[in-house]
Amino acid sequence: MSQSVTTQTEQGLYVNPEALTAHLPALDYRDGALYMEQVSIDEVVKHYGTPCYVYSKQAILDVYQSYTASFASLTHQICYAVKANSNLAVLGILAQAGAGFDIVSRGELMRVLAAGGEVSRVVFSGVGKTYSDIEYALTQGIGCFNVESISELTLINDVAKSLDKPAPISLRVNPNVDAKTHPYISTGLKDNKFGISHENAVAVYEQAAQLSHINIVGIDCHIGSQLTEVAPFVAALDKVIELIHSLRDKGIALRHIDLGGGLGVRYIDETPVSIDEFAQALLPKLSELGLTVFFEPGRSIVANAGVLLTKVDVLKPTEHKNFAIVDAAMNDLIRPALYQAEMAVIPSVLPSKDIDTDGTQSWDIVGAICETGDFLAKDRLLSLATGDILAITGAGAYGFTMSSNYNSRGRASEVMVADDRHQLIRKRETLEALYADEMLWQDK
Ligand SMILES: *Cc1c(COP(=O)(O)O)cnc(C)c1O
Repeated sequence: MSQSVTTQTEQGLYVNPEALTAHLPALDYRDGALYMEQVSIDEVVKHYGTPCYVYSKQAILDVYQSYTASFASLTHQICYAVKANSNLAVLGILAQAGAGFDIVSRGELMRVLAAGGEVSRVVFSGVGKTYSDIEYALTQGIGCFNVESISELTLINDVAKSLDKPAPISLRVNPNVDAKTHPYISTGLKDNKFGISHENAVAVYEQAAQLSHINIVGIDCHIGSQLTEVAPFVAALDKVIELIHSLRDKGIALRHIDLGGGLGVRYIDETPVSIDEFAQALLPKLSELGLTVFFEPGRSIVANAGVLLTKVDVLKPTEHKNFAIVDAAMNDLIRPALYQAEMAVIPSVLPSKDIDTDGTQSWDIVGAICETGDFLAKDRLLSLATGDILAITGAGAYGFTMSSNYNSRGRASEVMVADDRHQLIRKRETLEALYADEMLWQDK
């Protein structure tokens, strides 16, 4: 087997664990055993069991710092998109490093505050903010509302008037560029529900300028997620710059431009632009504007800082397919089922080097949920035995946050690793907790 990360055969896809981890700074194999930072994965499993999400503190900070370093020549603010991974420990580490946050709900804002985040560095995105969401955020001193419609704008003005506190706003414009990503995570096309169309944007700004309690501070866009090329970002920036110039002509001045998130990561063998290449492509245009620049990265900061650990419970070879039934399922990690996402599955202990003789076969890695869509990976060449521990890599983003209790399964535990330390950052959910808030029907 060559040292390339993947080899596709008729039987399935082989992902070379050592070649893969060479691209994942948090992980490596030592004498055949998988480590995150200085902690052995089998040690983590011994302490916390499976399924279990594990995150590397250093990997999170390294990506955050490469954003701040790449944009150091500009006044900028990195607002981590909380929905990618909202564990308090993750938020706390980023808050301490000086990050701002991008939130989409009142619940996320409460988490940011609980984690020690600075509210004036928080931007509030989302298409459906309610009166009480807005009231809470404004009272707390939110940095900016990213507004997606005229009705939201008037609602914010109403709340601001009743609190007698002007609301800082930015309009989320839809630049109508094709992010060339999965349709479910593409948000910048004109038939998406997100944002205000490029054509209407200037008129809506003029309306906003007439409102008594609206303070226009910025303009924003977010065109999609898991973008691997820089061209759509440049195209979107060009469209936003056009608007900034039109607004200047009308006497509407802005303080910041917010280009959203969306930078892609390498899950298996994708080749996304690096943060530095991304910055180099945008910096010349951005530095001419003289505005503070915001970004809202989520996935790129946390995806490759995390793995989901799972144990092989049952091996079920059939005439057509071999199924490895593991103790994690689509309720723990829905990306494969929801987006046809391909994620790497690697063992916590390497099998013998010779894959022709070590029992390697093609396996579907599936959960125990009663849904055919309940799979974590399909047609993977692996050498498996029951009791083996597998790591699904790239699981730090949109993993735990999208998990559910379907089939009355408690959600996984979460662990943070830093250097040679490991610490529980969320307890495994107990099964009693799943129905503790329910009541039996009373017959009279
Ligand atoms: C989801 C989202 C982000 C983060 O996207 P990533 O692809 O995780 O970087 C940023 N901004 C907004 C408005 C979002 O909805």
